[in-house]
Amino acid sequence: MSEWSMGRGKPKQIRHPQHRAQAGAASIEMPDRAFIKLERVEKAYPTPAGDVCALKGIDLEVWEGEFVGIVGKSGAGKSTLVNMVAGIDKPTSGRVRVGTRAIHEMSEDQVARWRGRNVGVIFQFFQLLPMLTVAQNVMLPMDFAGVYNSPKERRERALYLLEQVEIAEQADKLPSAVSGGQRQRVAIARALANDPAFLAADEPTGNLDSRTTEAVFSVFEKLVDEGKTILMVTHDMDLASRVTRTVHLADGEFVGDRAHRGLPGEAAHA
Ligand code: ADP
Ligand code: MG
Repeated sequence: MSEWSMGRGKPKQIRHPQHRAQAGAASIEMPDRAFIKLERVEKAYPTPAGDVCALKGIDLEVWEGEFVGIVGKSGAGKSTLVNMVAGIDKPTSGRVRVGTRAIHEMSEDQVARWRGRNVGVIFQFFQLLPMLTVAQNVMLPMDFAGVYNSPKERRERALYLLEQVEIAEQADKLPSAVSGGQRQRVAIARALANDPAFLAADEPTGNLDSRTTEAVFSVFEKLVDEGKTILMVTHDMDLASRVTRTVHLADGEFVGDRAHRGLPGEAAHA
């Protein structure tokens, strides 16, 4: 592919203080410029055996342009965390801000509308609608959000996004007629439909072979280069070392937060 530009405009110029600079600068008032900010987020799921505390007071700041890998054992709270940021689920207590929006304060309707326009969500099992073609699946978020007006414009944009993930030739097939890796590319194109600033991906390569994993991961890398912010849950420690930052969850709490390399435009650091 010659050029990678999935957005409506030019790639964004990214300005971001380094999140890692904060720890040593406790007494310095940093401007509150984090793109995503979670404060004391708790999530308890009621069960017959009592509450399961999936998140136990999470504080997290993510800057625009970061590619954050979320790692940890099964049951650590990774999906719950991503769902809080994507507005798929609500915290029991605490605050979740994305951009200028306080997600925890929004009604279900508001959050659904906000998510449709501002978040691209990618799941392990793709979750494409089986009765719709590949192109129609990608058009669906545009139909809901009403951002791209005419059906023709929506179809053109869908084909453009499918081209970017190199499966435009499958546009009029049903999802069942394409491979798992291709389905995940469709899901990525769908997630990009309304040109969201950030993508929330829950084990997006968990169901793919290693070659396809690499291809899907490189799509994410290009999107980050273009200025998107990505939160990606992964079990794959090789991938986790290739994102810009890894946060490690255990039993609903952060047990590690590591920057691996500079953010786009920054020099690499040790
Ligand atoms: P991970 O994605 O790291 O595997 P999850 O976020 O899915 O972990 O789950 C964290 C904890 O919350 C687990 O103990 C899980 O069993 C529990 N949990 C998640 N969703 C629910 C739910 N809807 N009802 C009850 N418990 C839940
Ligand atoms: Mg999970």
